[in-house]
Amino acid sequence: MAYDDSNIFARILRGEIPNDTVAENDHALAFRDIAPKAPSHVLVIPKGRYVAFDDFAANASEAEIAGFMRLCAQVCALEGVGLEQGNGFRAITNAGHDGVQEVPHFHLHIMGGSIMGPMIG
Ligand code: 5GP
Repeated sequence: MAYDDSNIFARILRGEIPNDTVAENDHALAFRDIAPKAPSHVLVIPKGRYVAFDDFAANASEAEIAGFMRLCAQVCALEGVGLEQGNGFRAITNAGHDGVQEVPHFHLHIMGGSIMGPMIG
């Protein structure tokens, strides 16, 4: 699947629509999900043009991967995000049709603040 620059996260990265940023570095942006499915629900996205996890894992540079992972770690530890108590969290990514991916720009959901429900549903 080719990357589509009109997707909503590409628009957020271009500053065309607002977002509730919690952290950012050279390679990635973390912001709150507009429709949270947990008391704390943050999306972490690379700044590069990657459709889904497999595209990112295969094609991102080492620096992009490191930058993305470091920002994920920062989100989990950041005061005020809601995960810093150390009670754990769930990190998932949906990919493609069967993964029921809504936005075709790779993103990791980091959710916590309460005990998560069953994974499959
Ligand atoms: P997916 O199903 O693609 O894994 O999840 C996409 C997520 O993006 C959903 O949880 C949805 O609530 C979130 N989302 C969709 N549009 C926006 C938006 O404009 N801003 C923010 N912050 N989140 C969005």
